[in-house]
Amino acid sequence: MKTLLLPVTPESIKKAARLIRQGELVGMPTETVYGLAADATNETAVKSIFAAKGRPQDNPLIVHICDLAMLNGLAAQIPEAAKRLAQAFWPGPFTMILKKSPAVLDVVTAGMDTVAIRFPSHPAALALIRESGRPIAAPSANLSGKPSPTKAEHVYEDLNGKIPLILDGGECAVGLESTVVTVSEDTVRVLRPGGVTVDDLKRVVPHVEVDSAVLHQLEEGRKAASPGMKYKHYAPKAKVVIIDGPLPAFYEYALRHKEGNTYCMVFEGEQTDAPLPCLTYGGEEDEASQARSLFDCLRRFDELGADTVFARSPATDGVGLAVYNRLLRAAAFQVVTL
Ligand code: AMP
Ligand code: MG
Repeated sequence: MKTLLLPVTPESIKKAARLIRQGELVGMPTETVYGLAADATNETAVKSIFAAKGRPQDNPLIVHICDLAMLNGLAAQIPEAAKRLAQAFWPGPFTMILKKSPAVLDVVTAGMDTVAIRFPSHPAALALIRESGRPIAAPSANLSGKPSPTKAEHVYEDLNGKIPLILDGGECAVGLESTVVTVSEDTVRVLRPGGVTVDDLKRVVPHVEVDSAVLHQLEEGRKAASPGMKYKHYAPKAKVVIIDGPLPAFYEYALRHKEGNTYCMVFEGEQTDAPLPCLTYGGEEDEASQARSLFDCLRRFDELGADTVFARSPATDGVGLAVYNRLLRAAAFQVVTL
């Protein structure tokens, strides 16, 4: 199959919507990362998402909507707190897990009785959902296990020849996948941190909990609240190690432990006079810039043929929690504290 890469225009949106209605897959820009979009009401189309990505069958998909009317057909029950959260964070990088309506296909939810729903803010994603007239199931448009795509070229790298069309909407504004939460009457539990932060949530709901899987490896045999969190994820081919400590000690450690083609992943400005080759991922105090560049940076290590990558540790406040969560998985939880 030939994969077209088209800029977002009214015509390319129409073409993409036609493909979605025919049960095909489309690479779709969103404000978080690029999504691999399919008609959520078409079982064959949804199955082909899993095939194209090599995604494990037990990892459910997020369904994307373009207005609140669409929500009613998907969720069986919307708690009061969920309504407040929707008001505060939709459209935006925020996903809620809700009791599913019987109409939602089992392939979408991997057989769970809940469904993950997001109302994105990216104009191209909204236009595509509206134009196709269907809720859209879309995981990140990468091969399973690889860093999520934040540029159309990343989608092309992974899915060229497997899907008919990628809409190029430029670089993603957030750069990390959405915040995923479960909601009960007065408690929100964060299963996956993202662009909507814990502090943002606390302004709307009194009790906010962070699932232990966000910062810790799941214990053997424990069931993941969010199946996606149990897989090794976001990983380049290189071995990645996070090093938490001051910069001089970081470089000293990296030099002593270098193995094969070794790189450092540091904050802007820290590459000056570095003893090893470096790529930067945002400013030390600027978590949003770290979020935007993390996945691109991880992919570039593959292009460079890196064997080992030593990464500076991000702070865990604000969006930094999401950056650290993804980096931890890229590093298979290997952290050295100096
Ligand atoms: P992705 O679309 O690849 O960014 O991944 C979606 C994330 O949401 C994965 O971590 C899924 O496991 C999680 N997810 C989707 N649906 C549900 C659900 N019904 N319950 C819990 N987690 C879910
Ligand atoms: Mg993903």
